[in-house]
Amino acid sequence: MYTERLYYDYAAPEPYPAEIREIRLQGDRAAILLDRTIFYPEGGGQEADRGSINGVPLQDVKEAPAAGGGGEEILHIVSAADAETMKPGPASLVLDSRRRRDFTVQHSAQHLLSGTILRLTGNYTVSMRLGAETCTIDVDAPELSADTLARVEDAAADAIEAGAPLLIHLCPPEDITKFPLRKVPPQGEDVIRVVEIAGYDFSPCCGTHCESTAQIGLLRILGAERYKGMTRVTFIAGRRVLAQSRLLWRNGETISRALKVPVMDSGAGVLAFLERNAALEQELKALREAAAEQKAEALLVRARSLTDPPSGESSSRSAKVPLVAEIYNASFDEILRIGRAAQKQTSAVLLLASRDEKKFAAFCSGKGTDLRSLLKTALEENGGKGGGGAGFFQGVFETVPALESFLGNMI
Ligand SMILES: [Zn+2]
Repeated sequence: MYTERLYYDYAAPEPYPAEIREIRLQGDRAAILLDRTIFYPEGGGQEADRGSINGVPLQDVKEAPAAGGGGEEILHIVSAADAETMKPGPASLVLDSRRRRDFTVQHSAQHLLSGTILRLTGNYTVSMRLGAETCTIDVDAPELSADTLARVEDAAADAIEAGAPLLIHLCPPEDITKFPLRKVPPQGEDVIRVVEIAGYDFSPCCGTHCESTAQIGLLRILGAERYKGMTRVTFIAGRRVLAQSRLLWRNGETISRALKVPVMDSGAGVLAFLERNAALEQELKALREAAAEQKAEALLVRARSLTDPPSGESSSRSAKVPLVAEIYNASFDEILRIGRAAQKQTSAVLLLASRDEKKFAAFCSGKGTDLRSLLKTALEENGGKGGGGAGFFQGVFETVPALESFLGNMI
């Protein structure tokens, strides 16, 4: 079905009258066909417009080969549930003009960027994508240096300041060679639409565009990375630059206040902070090790009294597995540090518990003792869970009294 295309000439937020000609149900969605439309259908790397028809929100707008043959038709996609409230007849079209404006600016910025890269480096843009957050172009260069990208950005800023007009040429294919096009024109079109940035760029394009480069406002290259042998350049333009600048400045102010450095030095401030932090972490690690060594030494004194009993010690005690148990108001990590520091210097079993985490760890370097069989009964009797091997075992209890009772059973 033929639909008059008004989207190149209409970008306002005010309602626009049209007529619904047909409603086609397609599963859980429906296509609305209009006599005329202000909505841009997805194409040429630019996303479809959003908005509403008689208050029903559009999910998508796309071009498809006409159902009855004879060219393309424009399908306005809504949900099937919404479509049931609609009927053929008069319609009020409302464009999400802010979104359209944004994509229009990004699209014109893309032409300016691609044209500027071609002019300064001789490299062509192979593909482009205008995303809702950022936009990219893929350039046929194995790499573009930071210096080159800065020169491109400056040259684009010059073109924006110059306020160069954007001109639309509708050209029959046989005359297309009169334009120095940056990319190959589409084949099989009756009329080729050429977008010119006066003095800067000519490109065949079906997208929406600004009237002048001044409307782009600013073009920022966010970065470049290698992509399939080419360079993918990420950029934003217009109000997106303003929004990003605002956000970055706010982040900079937060860092500035927290680290007491000027906003413009916040990057260096963060690096210096991280360096100090790494040094403190090293210092803390050493202090923790030293504290663990001290606690381990206290355990070893007790262990030695069991493993090297003075003469005259009762024989019943030496028949038992020598075991030193201790409960600490400390994290389980700290328990592990103490145990590791002490275990190599004694053959006694070390049974160490963290009151904070209701966990214990048992260490045994002596041969002939299996911690699994040694701890099994007391662990089960007190409702604990655990696992490990002959020389290292760990477990956890639901409550501190259960943990304490377990330790009591073992000594
Ligand atoms: Zn384009």
